[in-house]
Amino acid sequence: MFDNVTKLLTSCTCGKKHSLLTDECVVDNNCETAMKQYIAGRGFASPVIVCDENTEKFTANVTAQFEAKVVTVSGHAHATEVYTAQVNEFIDSVKPDVLIACGSGSVHDITRYCAFEKKIPFISYPTAASVDGFVSGVAAMTWYGQKLTFESAPPIAVFASPAVFCTAPERLTASGVGDVFGKYTSLFDWKIGKILTGEYYCEEIAGLEVDAMNDLTEVMLHRDAYTAEDYTTKVMNALLLSGLAMQLAGNSRPASGAEHHMSHLWEMARINEDTDALHGEKVAVGLMAVLRTYKKYLANVDLDAIRAINVEKVMDRAYLAPVYGELTDGILRENMPDGTPASSSLSKIRIDDADATLAAIREAAQDLPDADELEKLLKIAGATLTSAEVGLPADEAFVEKTLTYAPYVRNRLSLLKVIKAAQLCAE
Ligand SMILES: [Zn+2]
Ligand SMILES: [Zn+2]
Repeated sequence: MFDNVTKLLTSCTCGKKHSLLTDECVVDNNCETAMKQYIAGRGFASPVIVCDENTEKFTANVTAQFEAKVVTVSGHAHATEVYTAQVNEFIDSVKPDVLIACGSGSVHDITRYCAFEKKIPFISYPTAASVDGFVSGVAAMTWYGQKLTFESAPPIAVFASPAVFCTAPERLTASGVGDVFGKYTSLFDWKIGKILTGEYYCEEIAGLEVDAMNDLTEVMLHRDAYTAEDYTTKVMNALLLSGLAMQLAGNSRPASGAEHHMSHLWEMARINEDTDALHGEKVAVGLMAVLRTYKKYLANVDLDAIRAINVEKVMDRAYLAPVYGELTDGILRENMPDGTPASSSLSKIRIDDADATLAAIREAAQDLPDADELEKLLKIAGATLTSAEVGLPADEAFVEKTLTYAPYVRNRLSLLKVIKAAQLCAE
């Protein structure tokens, strides 16, 4: 496990008692040996490895260490009801006591879902540094064609081999880099939540993620000096750290802000055709759009306009329905959990001391990177930067529409939500 993470388990300056559901995290070329010891130590006797056709070849690294049955979901697995049924059937016939996810995001989602349903623990053996969700407790599924997220459990342990994940297609690693740098705006939004609504915030957790991003920035600036293995290891470490940060915080706040909300809106295909872009690719595009919007706004913060936000006007069906269509009821429920505008995150904004609020926002803004510099880093990684690159409309109006409506996919406060709500109420 990462020492800087376990340090927070004993005590933290935020006063919260942090805990982790994932108790082992090994990134090492001998991680399969560590997995063998872990499995033996826990007394597991009948492991089953879940993989897809692309990642099946890596199961041999594991079965060279200990006996395990393998179930290969066909094709380039998407986390659908078809593949979970296939894995569940295998589980019913073999009766394993632990599952091992050998693959990237989708294989993990399938395994996570089945493990939770069958009440079996699972271990993560990621084959690409593509996403920070390996240690997450949420399974992102496509259920009868609809994108849904299901509560499930995170892996009890992660064993990641650089020799394995460094061979993943570059596109996957580039997507992982997008997901990592997306934390710049996630963390900023978290801090805005603290400043404007007094939301819980942990400086130490945020610090861990900032360190990981700084580390990855250094790597990017000297990318040529790193071997594929060293480079992808840095990306994987940052991704795992981000996943663990969510466990420490008890929710996805440290790793998901306005940039992820944009990605979620595109996944809902309300204002666009479905795109098969990877998670981190969409996050990178959202990140750049959000960062540029923030930079512009932060040069001229208008607290009076924020004070003038009329939540009823924002939480108006007539305003949201043209974009959200038949999903509008769900969006209104999400943003007003008790059915009234008072339960919207926007209603929790309190500005008692304007000078202090402004100073705090300005201080937080210093942690945001320069947009052009960040774009340079993303380019080095080969990450996507524009909506067109992820198969979405290329025009500015499309991006603007996303910026305007995406904040309502979640009740979570982001600066983007504040900006757009203030704009609407000033009209
Ligand atoms: Zn803390
Ligand atoms: Zn993400």
